[in-house]
Amino acid sequence: MKLLEYEAKEVFRGFGIPVPRGKVAESAEEAIRVAEMIGGQVVIKAQVPVGGRGKAGGILLAETPERAGEAAARLLASEVRGIKVRRVLVEERLKIEKELYLGLTVDRRYGTYVILASSEGGVDIEEVASRTPEKIIKQYVDPIDGFRPHHARWIAKRLGFSGGLMMRLSEIAMRLYDLGVEVDAEITEINPLALVGEDLVAADARLNIDDNALFRHGDLLQRYGGGELEGLSEVEREARRLGLTYVELDGNIGIIGNGAGLTMATLDTVTLYGGRPGNFLDLGGGTPPERVEQAVTFLLNDKRIRVLLVNILGGITRCDEIARGIVNARLKAGVIKPMVIRLSGTNEEEGIRILREAGVEVMGTMEEAAERSVILAGGR
Ligand code: GDP
Ligand code: MN
Repeated sequence: MKLLEYEAKEVFRGFGIPVPRGKVAESAEEAIRVAEMIGGQVVIKAQVPVGGRGKAGGILLAETPERAGEAAARLLASEVRGIKVRRVLVEERLKIEKELYLGLTVDRRYGTYVILASSEGGVDIEEVASRTPEKIIKQYVDPIDGFRPHHARWIAKRLGFSGGLMMRLSEIAMRLYDLGVEVDAEITEINPLALVGEDLVAADARLNIDDNALFRHGDLLQRYGGGELEGLSEVEREARRLGLTYVELDGNIGIIGNGAGLTMATLDTVTLYGGRPGNFLDLGGGTPPERVEQAVTFLLNDKRIRVLLVNILGGITRCDEIARGIVNARLKAGVIKPMVIRLSGTNEEEGIRILREAGVEVMGTMEEAAERSVILAGGR
């Protein structure tokens, strides 16, 4: 799960990492109010889940609240790197003397977290990494020992810091590590970590949380995840809300499968017979009838979809439960669309019987089902 900058900064603040004063805004008026509250010069930053916003014109400076409103209006009417801007972050403008880089990511080869740090932070960090890799310091963290204060001070020293600044930098590195471990971050990054007088401030923030660990972060899931929603259509947003594994495509045949591989194969087969899939929707394994009902209802309500093709291979998934889910959705949705079902595996006979009794077409193979759905959708 990707957090937007303002969300990541809220998490940073909770872990004691210094961030600039500021607030998110969804309109020019709101941006003006935030700028007035902050007072003085501000930066207005497009909240889109991609890096390189600075270079793409997504970061603007403003001298007055009025100018902040204009800048916000401009950003909110634009796209940054192909993503429509729905929110901006209005922050106090920092007098940055130097830009550092500090990041934490997982090194799959060693199976550990690794801290990355550089005194050459800022918008060109990728270039620094490829041209002068020696300017990026890497510190692997032993997961048993953890990341200790002396490790952190060693990083700060190698970046050329001493005294109070060394202590502040190592403190921030420790907190970033604690944060990363606590929220199961895949990556978390401060770029730039801005030197402002004797202070270090996280001028930018990135935080991606491991999706496979989200089950233990219900609180974060409730509050955040703005970065996931940006760039999605309304239908995709709704699918996210329902927790469906769904991707919108531009055709008119709705597709439901179980398992990503089978669902992809179903898309391919429909395409082979000259049809156009309208989506990818993977039910996963062991799906209860309610979940199937939800998925079928979702596609029945999608106006772009003319025919539904459901392709299930029952292993831990039981075909009779799938059939019940499909029939319930048909009864309740109040929308009639042709459906073609292919069920194979555990409790297949029972599943097919339930569907046929309800008047739903069942085909024996994926090819037959795909071909039939293409004909029902109006042919090639
Ligand atoms: P990114 O381009 O998406 O990584 O967005 P950043 O938030 O990192 O901003 C890009 C650049 O804008 C930074 O590296 C800074 O040089 C500059 N910038 C961002 N905030 C401020 C600020 O408050 N004051 C100043 N002077 N520059 C800023
Ligand atoms: Mn940045």
